[in-house]
Amino acid sequence: MNEHNVKSIIFSSTATVYGTPEFIPLTEKAKTGGTTNPYSTSKLFVEKILEDLYTSDNNWKILIFRYFNPVGAHPSGIIGEEPNGIPANLMPYISMVATGELKELSVFGDDYNTKDGTGVRDYIHIMDLARAHINGIEKLNNIDDGLLIYNLGTGIGYSVLDIVHAFEKANNVKIPYKITERRPGDIDEYYADAHLAEKELGWKAEKTLEDMCRDAYNFTKNRKNQ
Ligand code: UDP
Repeated sequence: MNEHNVKSIIFSSTATVYGTPEFIPLTEKAKTGGTTNPYSTSKLFVEKILEDLYTSDNNWKILIFRYFNPVGAHPSGIIGEEPNGIPANLMPYISMVATGELKELSVFGDDYNTKDGTGVRDYIHIMDLARAHINGIEKLNNIDDGLLIYNLGTGIGYSVLDIVHAFEKANNVKIPYKITERRPGDIDEYYADAHLAEKELGWKAEKTLEDMCRDAYNFTKNRKNQ
């Protein structure tokens, strides 16, 4: 990038850089580290590299977005997520149970310290996420230099069972599930305080959980015809 005199970058990071949350809702000031899986650790390393880069040369414009749980698809049903094999993430898994490609959902643990015992996350529609990047580019165009970090989430925590029920309602389908063991590396609960992005980027998530469930299913059930 230096060779080509490119000194602006937006990095897609993850809310899991916070490890086990110091507090919730998570603000950008919460301490990072103590990551519970290699994916999160690799994202944290890149954040650190970018911070060091900025310290060494503060002519850079660096924007780090910490995504919470991106889900859903383009409302047209044309652009979406096609996981390799059996999906590891909740929403694509549920979508493939709904199409009949998978038999039932395994809910990984119901003994977490949450309202119904299942894991709580902050799910964000990919269209809201995409829009944040446009605001981010505009922001970078309007500053001379800086290292900016924003959470991208809705600020609402939903449990695994909330998602199952919302999906059933939005799409008028039944999602068979069974409760199984916890998945190693999962934590109880986290969701964003997304006010900083609202204040400084003029961005706020607008799509509902119903939109997320409807668009995810719409893509999954139509994808084989494309
Ligand atoms: N989960 C689940 N069954 C699945 C996939 C995920 O119960 O087949 C749970 C998982 O334990 C977590 C939540 O759903 O509480 C979101 O998991 P996902 O993998 O989508 O995202 P993560 O929060 O792990 O990045």
